[in-house]
Amino acid sequence: MADTIFARIIRGEIPARIVHDDDLCLAFHDVAPQAPVHVLVIPKQPIASLAVATEADATLLGHLMVVATKVAATLGLADGYRLVVNCGLDGGQTVDHLHVHLLGGRAMGWPPG
Ligand code: AMP
Repeated sequence: MADTIFARIIRGEIPARIVHDDDLCLAFHDVAPQAPVHVLVIPKQPIASLAVATEADATLLGHLMVVATKVAATLGLADGYRLVVNCGLDGGQTVDHLHVHLLGGRAMGWPPG
């Protein structure tokens, strides 16, 4: 799998505003926030996208969701929030390292664009 900007953040080669760090994942503020709170939760294991995740990744994927809920609570998103995983071209994925967007701090529209 090709190296990505997120792999470089995991290796500490470029800075990020990290809000959570454990053995399996890292969470940090998005550099171009689309909401008052916009955090990315990424696995340290470089899975390119949700499309190539397998049953063997199920626990890790669940962990990303649980961490996102913990970060949401830590950042005070008591009124709710949205988790998004963009997958592939039509999904709007731009970085080929699986990531969960945590968006909050404002009411979200539906359907998404
Ligand atoms: P996606 O379009 O779903 O692949 O999301 C990629 C996200 O990564 C976008 O929201 C970008 O703003 C964000 N992003 C790209 N480079 C960085 C960076 N160096 N630090 C934090 N977020 C980044």
